[in-house]
Amino acid sequence: MEQFVIIGGGAAAHQAARSLLQAKPQARLAMVSQEPQLPYDRPHLSKGFLTGDSLSPAMLGGHELYGEPRVEWLGGASVGEIDRDNARVHLGSGAALAYDKLIIATGSRARRLPSEVARAPVHYLRTFEDALALRSQLVSEARVVIIGGGFIGLEVAAAARQRGCRVTVIEAQAHLLARTGCAALSHWAQALHVENGVEVQLQAQVAAIEPGPLGKARVQTSAGPVLADVVVVGIGVQANAELAQACGLDVADGIVVDRACATRDPAIFAAGEVTCYPVTHLGVRTRSESWTAAGEQGSVAGRAAAGDAAAAYGEMPWLWSDQYSSTLQCLGLPQLAGKYAYLGDVHAGQWLALGWDDEDRLVCAIAANRNRDISAIRRAIKRNEPLAELYASALVSAQRTTGERTPARRVV
Ligand SMILES: Cc1cc2nc3c(=O)[nH]c(=O)nc-3n(C[C@H](O)[C@H](O)[C@H](O)COP(=O)(O)OP(=O)(O)OC[C@H]3O[C@@H](n4cnc5c(N)ncnc54)[C@H](O)[C@@H]3O)c2cc1C
Repeated sequence: MEQFVIIGGGAAAHQAARSLLQAKPQARLAMVSQEPQLPYDRPHLSKGFLTGDSLSPAMLGGHELYGEPRVEWLGGASVGEIDRDNARVHLGSGAALAYDKLIIATGSRARRLPSEVARAPVHYLRTFEDALALRSQLVSEARVVIIGGGFIGLEVAAAARQRGCRVTVIEAQAHLLARTGCAALSHWAQALHVENGVEVQLQAQVAAIEPGPLGKARVQTSAGPVLADVVVVGIGVQANAELAQACGLDVADGIVVDRACATRDPAIFAAGEVTCYPVTHLGVRTRSESWTAAGEQGSVAGRAAAGDAAAAYGEMPWLWSDQYSSTLQCLGLPQLAGKYAYLGDVHAGQWLALGWDDEDRLVCAIAANRNRDISAIRRAIKRNEPLAELYASALVSAQRTTGERTPARRVV
């Protein structure tokens, strides 16, 4: 009987397990996860979990699987080495597991501040334990300083405001959500948070976080000191790709895989946030910090490892973020966009930005509270349908809407 091993216990690993066992019901599967909990909904940690009072994470559907005799769930265990020559993984405990096929779904970890900068305790948010610890500090009137104005930082800001905290976001760049490179999104996010009572400091470098008076932390920034009861650091993530690198797989900001989530070792697949995968629509590679991409790649990896030659991942990157009562979505790769057309009013609550690169290819769509538009664009891209019909009339009005650049061009 074929033996499969999955390293990881997140969305990618979970979907890999489900699709693998669906494709090969007789397979035997061992799943090794550093986290003790069965796979849970990580995006919920910075949203409903922080504003709610649940004492357990929201589990992913289908976790009954881990009670089945064909599945060995090894929660709270860590793989320390992949021995490709002998097709085994070695656990931190000293135990070894043999595999016929291996799926690496080790995700990412929160990027940490150097210890010489973080001299007082700070919070990061990646795991259920992180969220539990952070939530216990988000009490009314607590002064919360969030370092990093990316998606996680802003979701924490929104949740902290909803819990009655006084919130300051400190961002080193000139804009919030700067990594997306979409000015409209940055302006909209800033307005949204300022309207909700968040103080936003831009272009502020954090020099040190040190113990302050009365048990507070003093955050020393280039704009001056800020006292905090709670400091949250959201400065990005680092792919857990070291295992793959150490065993000689190709790694370039993530484990390099093809459309079938295959690495260059035919016995090893990888899926989710740890991978650097081809975005076939745009002819580039990327690593996505996206829940949907992780799950979908997991499904593909599971099927491919089970021998399904048709398994392939061909989606555009897509992620969403909930802040207060707004949902924003980002489809594609905004970092490739040189120009945008805006539909709707960027200064109002609902808008859609379509971005093109220098070769006039549609490379991204970003939306606030226009979920149906993003769904329609996703569907059209998936079916290789032209978007012109969907947006022809809307583009005419785009010429009259706000936004720094509204090129008069046909939607491709
Ligand atoms: C707070 C938060 C909110 C988010 N919100 C959104 C959102 O709104 N929308 C969105 O699209 N995305 C969101 N994301 C991103 C999304 O959750 C991730 O992209 C997705 O969870 C990645 O799934 P994954 O399975 O690839 O990796 P992970 O979820 O990181 O899982 C990897 C697992 O592997 C385990 N592991 C790592 N190394 C080893 C090892 N050596 N041995 C054993 N186990 C190991 C880890 O402990 C972990 O359990 C959010 C992320 C966070 C942290």
